[in-house]
Amino acid sequence: MNLIIFGAPGAGKGTQSAHLIEIYRIPAIATGDMLRAQRRAGTALGDQVKGYMDRGELVPDQLMIDIIKERLQKPDARDGFILDGFPRTVAQARALDEMLTQLGRRIDAVIYLRVSRQVLIDRLSHRYSCRTCEAVYNFTSDQAHSLPRCTVDGGELYQRPDDKPEIVANRIDVFLKHTAPLIDYYNAQHKLENLDGQMLVDDVRGDIARRLAGLRKGAGSR
Ligand code: ADP
Repeated sequence: MNLIIFGAPGAGKGTQSAHLIEIYRIPAIATGDMLRAQRRAGTALGDQVKGYMDRGELVPDQLMIDIIKERLQKPDARDGFILDGFPRTVAQARALDEMLTQLGRRIDAVIYLRVSRQVLIDRLSHRYSCRTCEAVYNFTSDQAHSLPRCTVDGGELYQRPDDKPEIVANRIDVFLKHTAPLIDYYNAQHKLENLDGQMLVDDVRGDIARRLAGLRKGAGSR
């Protein structure tokens, strides 16, 4: 299964891809996490992307395309992958199609988690992440005064600089302008699975599982 999990910031991509990697035993390739790891490690690439990320803007296409090209050729992605955060522009999607064609592969499905702007803003303003493993938690502003440690690895929880309200609004605008056109792009390829991302986490998970099972059956009977 070569999958893309798609949606605005805060749509629940990371949460759902965590379930999918367990079911399909394929890696999740989350570009935002990869870039934050570069920043933590203090690499040249990390320095290069910092400004874009903190402003809630997109990192230039060619940089992202090169990162994904290298990542998709790693052995763990041989039997499939879930892309989270890539592609984010039509130019990235075209480049992805080209690189997969060269590898004799293709995207099987694009899972689109549809969520309203107000719900996205609400979710992101309460989102806290672990500094080391990126696990995500939600706290109200009252609870945020004394944050617990991460239950996965004991790391410190913090609010990502780009989850601050003024930056969140910019990220959603950037999504609508540059990334939403991919809905038509993948619809035209008959690959888009359009889901209600506002259901409970388990219900979204169930819907994704049903649709992917349907795809597999379809592929088997062809
Ligand atoms: P979210 O999905 O919550 O918006 P991510 O963690 O996926 O956040 O991405 C954080 C930031 O990393 C983005 O706002 C952007 O600056 C950068 N980024 C990640 N993936 C891409 C991409 N494919 N193209 C351009 N910029 C990207």
